[in-house]
Amino acid sequence: MRFRPPSVRARLTLWHAGVLTLIVCVFSAAILVFVEARLYGGLDAQLDREVATIAKIYRDEPDELRDLAPDWGITLFEVDDGNVPRQSEAWEREGLSRALQTGRSTSPLSWTSPDGRRYRVHSVSERSYRVAAAVNEASLHSTLWTLAVILAIGIPFAAGLAIAGGYFLAGRVLSPVGTMAKRAREITAESRAKRLPVENAQDEFGQLATVFNDTLSRLQDAFERMRRFTADASHELRTPLTAMRSVGEVALQHTLDAAAYRDVIGSMLEEVDRLTRLVESLLILTRADSGKVHLAAEALDVGGLAGHVIDQLRVLADEKQQELTLRAPIRVHAAGDAALIRQALMNLIHNAIKYTPDGGAITVEVRETGGQVMIEVRDTGSGIPATHRDRIFDRFYRVDPGRSREEGGVGLGLAIARWAVEANGGKLELAGGKTEGSSFLVLLPSADDSSAFAADRKLPYETRRGTEGAVSS
Ligand code: ADP
Repeated sequence: MRFRPPSVRARLTLWHAGVLTLIVCVFSAAILVFVEARLYGGLDAQLDREVATIAKIYRDEPDELRDLAPDWGITLFEVDDGNVPRQSEAWEREGLSRALQTGRSTSPLSWTSPDGRRYRVHSVSERSYRVAAAVNEASLHSTLWTLAVILAIGIPFAAGLAIAGGYFLAGRVLSPVGTMAKRAREITAESRAKRLPVENAQDEFGQLATVFNDTLSRLQDAFERMRRFTADASHELRTPLTAMRSVGEVALQHTLDAAAYRDVIGSMLEEVDRLTRLVESLLILTRADSGKVHLAAEALDVGGLAGHVIDQLRVLADEKQQELTLRAPIRVHAAGDAALIRQALMNLIHNAIKYTPDGGAITVEVRETGGQVMIEVRDTGSGIPATHRDRIFDRFYRVDPGRSREEGGVGLGLAIARWAVEANGGKLELAGGKTEGSSFLVLLPSADDSSAFAADRKLPYETRRGTEGAVSS
């Protein structure tokens, strides 16, 4: 089984110490080789000088050769002119002539005597004689040996220092990780506001902590939204249930005639309707949040689609004697999913009918602008006060909760409409600067713009059918 140190600190230390020891070993070996070469170079230069001195003395005053040892310090030499060779006493004693028999080398060579002593021997042949000199390599080997011992002691010492220093440094460098882990452990659902410490936002750990903190903030927001959504949804569900319960209880306490019972059942069914609408809207938003809804990218005849929605809702406008008009002077095509766009238009036009008093006018206008298809839903109703404009698309947000409930709204219509439009790559805005009524603008990518309607267009949602005619909140 492969050995794997448990902590990053230990791993870093071992890697650091291992690499450093390897470098020191290679460096030490290189030093030894270099020093050896330099020492032999020095020895060879000395031999060269000695051979030149011996040759000169032999040529000028051959009798002086015996004074070489006391005068010049040259103790190991031989001059061979073919007769009796002239050798120093030490040369003869060490039997160095045998070194010359090993080969006719022109460069100095190392020779080991039978009793284990090593000599550096150099010989130069002139026309009538040959001069040879030698030096003992003992001091050279002793120097090399001393150096090797120093290095051999130094390497483990350096490795030990590398381990200790590396362990200490790795501990210091990794200390923010420990602090982060400790703080991360303290973050629970109840203490979501806590964040990881950022010692230095520029270094890697600082960047990691910053990214982590951003993620935590996003999670906290999502958590908060989910909590608010659940609380609002429960509240909205409770209202019709409470209404049904009280209607039922009152009916039970008295004996009523058939017409009165029908009234009771009618109002209960109204509440059931409201509940159904709410549950359907919640289901749509849940699917939207899951991100698993895939869209069909079709070329939609926007005027035709708006006309169809208007036909469905006309009965409501007629009840309030409202004028519901479609203006689609040219045929324009948007790229998108018909069911979702229909849903968005349904919610917007239904809202316009709900929040426009009797006898008002609602106009749906389709036009093409800057490569996009624009659908404007305008009404002459109550309008939306500036203070509410920013929050109008929030889930369960209503300008006038009482009025909205009266109209059967649950505060999810605009949130669903915005999601439906944005999921198709479009935008839903509330037009500003209006003095009367309100105007919602839907902007969709045009189907004529090939990039928006490419066959392989990546859409983040699954094809969803069966929401056609789904109720507006
Ligand atoms: P609701 O179910 O309450 O209609 P929506 O999300 O559809 O929920 O709308 C949110 C709020 O925006 C509504 O309660 C209403 O106050 C306001 N609103 C939406 N459309 C219009 C409009 N056309 N005119 C005036 N107010 C509107």
